[in-house]
Amino acid sequence: MARYHGPVCRLCRRENLKLFLKGERCYTDKCAIERRNYPPGQHGQRRLKFSEYSLQLREKQKVKRMYGLLEKQFRGSFETAEKSRGITGENLLVILERRLDNVVYRLGFACSRGDARLLVRHGHVQVNGRRVTIPSYRVGVGDVVSVAEKSRKSERVISAMEGAQRRGVPDWMEVDPEKFSGTVKVLPSRSDITTPINEKLIVELYSK
Ligand code: SF4
Repeated sequence: MARYHGPVCRLCRRENLKLFLKGERCYTDKCAIERRNYPPGQHGQRRLKFSEYSLQLREKQKVKRMYGLLEKQFRGSFETAEKSRGITGENLLVILERRLDNVVYRLGFACSRGDARLLVRHGHVQVNGRRVTIPSYRVGVGDVVSVAEKSRKSERVISAMEGAQRRGVPDWMEVDPEKFSGTVKVLPSRSDITTPINEKLIVELYSK
């Protein structure tokens, strides 16, 4: 399936949750969820009854959209989570959280995960001093993620870093804004992911 190129605020409204897909706008009162907190479309304001399947599907779509993945990529992450030791749902969230594009966003070098993915793809990001252009690259403990020297003057990066101050950096990483770099101190755990997600529903959906 092709990547979604339509209006992203619709996705948040569909999931009834701020997915923070639009950078700075998400923190202003222009956010579509603040203005129209009901599903998009002609029948958006209708009361709906949710079946078990639709709840599971919505939960999966929510997480997939939040991290900006295609179905195949998301499924691949789920399969990796299933093969890993521990609880599949939690493994899945940790795997997604360790993606390089997510880490670049969390460190504040990009205003959204979508923007972070572009930074990585276009070669603006390094891991341990080497350029990495794969957004799904999974970071490990001790990895140093930095913005490449030539990209540090980029308006896009600088304004993202200014805006990111209000978001803060998760406890499992630390950032050094002077050096445009951040370090993974420990691997993230389930409790580090504060977005309301019921990962058990995703496991149930894929276990059918
Ligand atoms: Fe979602 Fe951001 Fe649009 Fe608000 S502004 S609806 S958080 S993408």
